[in-house]
Amino acid sequence: MPRNIVIVGGGVGGTLAANLIARKVRSGEAEVILIDEDGRHIYQPGFLYVAFGQKRPASLSRPVQPLLDRRVRLMRAKAEKIDPVAQVVKTNQGDVSYDEVVIATGSHVAPEEVPGLKEASHHFYTMEAAESLRDVLRGFGGGRVVIGVAGVPYKCPPAPLEFSLMLDAQLREKGLRNKTEMHYVSPLPRVFPIESVSEVVTPMMEARGINIHTFFNAESVNPQKREVTSLEGETLPYDLLVLIPPHRGARLVQDSGLGDAGGWIPTDRHSLRALEHPHMFVIGDATNLPISKSGAAAHFEADTVAANLLADLRGEAMEHQYQGRVMCFLETGGGRATLLNFDYNHPPHPPKPSRLYHWQKAAFNQVYWWTLPQGRLPGEKRPPKRGAHQSTPEGTRDSGD
Ligand SMILES: Cc1cc2nc3c(=O)[nH]c(=O)nc-3n(C[C@H](O)[C@H](O)[C@H](O)COP(=O)(O)OP(=O)(O)OC[C@H]3O[C@@H](n4cnc5c(N)ncnc54)[C@H](O)[C@@H]3O)c2cc1C
Repeated sequence: MPRNIVIVGGGVGGTLAANLIARKVRSGEAEVILIDEDGRHIYQPGFLYVAFGQKRPASLSRPVQPLLDRRVRLMRAKAEKIDPVAQVVKTNQGDVSYDEVVIATGSHVAPEEVPGLKEASHHFYTMEAAESLRDVLRGFGGGRVVIGVAGVPYKCPPAPLEFSLMLDAQLREKGLRNKTEMHYVSPLPRVFPIESVSEVVTPMMEARGINIHTFFNAESVNPQKREVTSLEGETLPYDLLVLIPPHRGARLVQDSGLGDAGGWIPTDRHSLRALEHPHMFVIGDATNLPISKSGAAAHFEADTVAANLLADLRGEAMEHQYQGRVMCFLETGGGRATLLNFDYNHPPHPPKPSRLYHWQKAAFNQVYWWTLPQGRLPGEKRPPKRGAHQSTPEGTRDSGD
């Protein structure tokens, strides 16, 4: 009797994993079922450009169905609970039992965790927030801007820095930079979780007159006084506040008791199997792995999830190992970008920002819909090996957890 392989979540990780599994599964061996809440796939990296009025929101959202291999059955339903002992996903459309499950439910922002943040701060980590920020930026005539991160881990660590550098460039173009004071706050001892990237980006920010405040753990925002205060006791006034809210794992994960305090599922860093549940694999933001919460990480994890899940289903040894690979671009403003290419053992060494990387990122944003979710990207180059810079796995942490 065919068995059930269930993937929960139709974002980057879930769609790609479902497609790769469907391609490898033998005829009659198992049914591949993808459960997604609203049946739409959102390209979140585009939110950054929505905030600057450079992309239309409608271009970032498509139905999941056409992205799926014909052997994947899409079930549009909200998963409400996962019972890892009975091996059942309970949904608002009925229960689905599984032999193997992939959790690909991503993360969500939790602004309510910092008093005053929801009322007072802007961000661009959801479509609605990015559109609202775009409208605010259109009317911005100068003043004191405070940008940063209100908690770790947060997805796409480059994005808040990209926003700062792009805003600096946009204000210069509009002749508003000399009327604007820019401040960047980070809860970490540096502007970016990985030291080698901070070493490159910090001088760029300083050269553009962006004031940096490290060890700034946002404790509360006072919307009346327009001030943000840190746990460390620093208070910064602002005219425009753009703080990325704290992130949490999916509510489903929390409701099912599968996650840690942040809602991240303890996951084996190499096999990508859940540490406590033998027939459960985890991909993308949902893991507790010490790497970026990024589409790029989900992309490089998908091969391992597909291969090990099928090995487990067949009672074979799981031989595939994820090595912590991530590769993404970092926009530096003015139509330039650099590249972050790294894994557990090789921290990134971003090259000099250039127009080439900016155009590569722009091209990727276009071809995304026909390549990554279907697993059609050619194998990229390995991260450069620089023996002198090899670090411990902890040295490559960039999700800040
Ligand atoms: C502003 C911004 C810029 C970014 N830039 C980049 C970048 O340049 N490069 C990069 O690599 N990454 C970037 N990212 C991060 C990237 O988008 C995410 O890390 C990635 O989408 C995570 O993939 P995922 O599959 O884990 O989760 P998601 O893509 O978030 O998908 C989760 C899916 O699970 C579904 N789901 C959740 N709960 C349930 C439930 N209970 N039942 C059914 N379905 C459910 C959701 O509907 C969704 O479809 C950026 C993110 C943001 C916000």
